[in-house]
Amino acid sequence: MIPVNEPLLGKAELKYVSEAIETNWISSEGRFIREFEAGFASYCGRRHGIAVNNGTSALMLAMRALNLPAGSEVIMPSFTIISCALACIYNDLVPVFVDSDPRLNLDPEQVLQVIGPQTRAIMPVHIYGQPADMETLEQIAREHSLVIVEDFAEAIGSRYHDRMCGSFGEVSCASFYANKTLTTGEGGMCLTDDDQLAEELRKLRNLAFIPERRFVHEQLGFNFRMTNIQAAIGLAQLERIEQQVESKIQIGETYNALLAGLEEDGKLHLPPRRSGVVNTYWMYPLMLTKNTDFDAVVFADKLRDRGIQTRPFFYPLHLQPAFEQFSWHRRQSLPECESAYRRGLYIPSGLTLTRGLQEQVAEAVVGVLAC
Ligand SMILES: *Cc1c(COP(=O)(O)O)cnc(C)c1O
Repeated sequence: MIPVNEPLLGKAELKYVSEAIETNWISSEGRFIREFEAGFASYCGRRHGIAVNNGTSALMLAMRALNLPAGSEVIMPSFTIISCALACIYNDLVPVFVDSDPRLNLDPEQVLQVIGPQTRAIMPVHIYGQPADMETLEQIAREHSLVIVEDFAEAIGSRYHDRMCGSFGEVSCASFYANKTLTTGEGGMCLTDDDQLAEELRKLRNLAFIPERRFVHEQLGFNFRMTNIQAAIGLAQLERIEQQVESKIQIGETYNALLAGLEEDGKLHLPPRRSGVVNTYWMYPLMLTKNTDFDAVVFADKLRDRGIQTRPFFYPLHLQPAFEQFSWHRRQSLPECESAYRRGLYIPSGLTLTRGLQEQVAEAVVGVLAC
């Protein structure tokens, strides 16, 4: 079976983790935390990095630190991970779901349509490494005085018009889960250019302790601290980030070439190629066209029979059973993301893939769609 992803870990990771253990710095203090925060922020073109224990925590922390009034609406794509909505719900904010554009990202047209008196923020997500239409979203945010919280968990190293993903809006949130382009096993980070917001994020990450009066708390914080051991892995990965991002792009472009025939034959939609953006192909998504008479579940079964592991697309957030209990829940139909869910999956895309393995994957995909 060719796995959908495997992390790529090297000798530097082992060396730094050993150092953390040998020097007894295993909690959330230590040199690796500081160097990883500063190094990753600088890689993304940001002033401050606040490392946390996972990407969901990063989103949760960001939404808390922004201190939006209770009941404020946050516009986000329906086609994303549940973490985006949870970060709002647990902070008494209301997620508002909109449909996707043809690249599976938040559709700016639909963002405009749902802006109302309670709207305070937009949360764009760069799905599968493909940058969202940030210039249009920034313009909308400016015109309507909205905050942007960028989820770039799937787009480490991606660029939009020469600007790094992770550098947009008030806060950007990353995940360093094992399948992400840079990993710490579990981990995440908030990035910001705002000194005051950075301080607030740091305080709330650490139970809202205040240095002047230890154990007196004026705010409700979280323990979202990252350990020095996680940061040791992260710093080692960061030293190779350019290569890792380059490999991801290579893997994506190799699939583009190997699968081009199926796109020409009208059997598959490949990720759209656009000028002015760098897609880092976090995961390589395939979408069956209307010319195919089976859905993504059957497609995945057929690929598994040929030794290829895949993962389904996101189940749209507007259809999540867990949200039916809320007064803000609305029955709605968002055709693009519903159809993407039925027709899409992603194929092996990890950093350990070789050209030979990619050829095997492509051969299997061609084989399944030929019969
Ligand atoms: C992976 C991911 C996250 C957060 O993931 P964690 O598993 O909590 O680290 C958030 N948003 C998106 C879009 C993701 O892909």
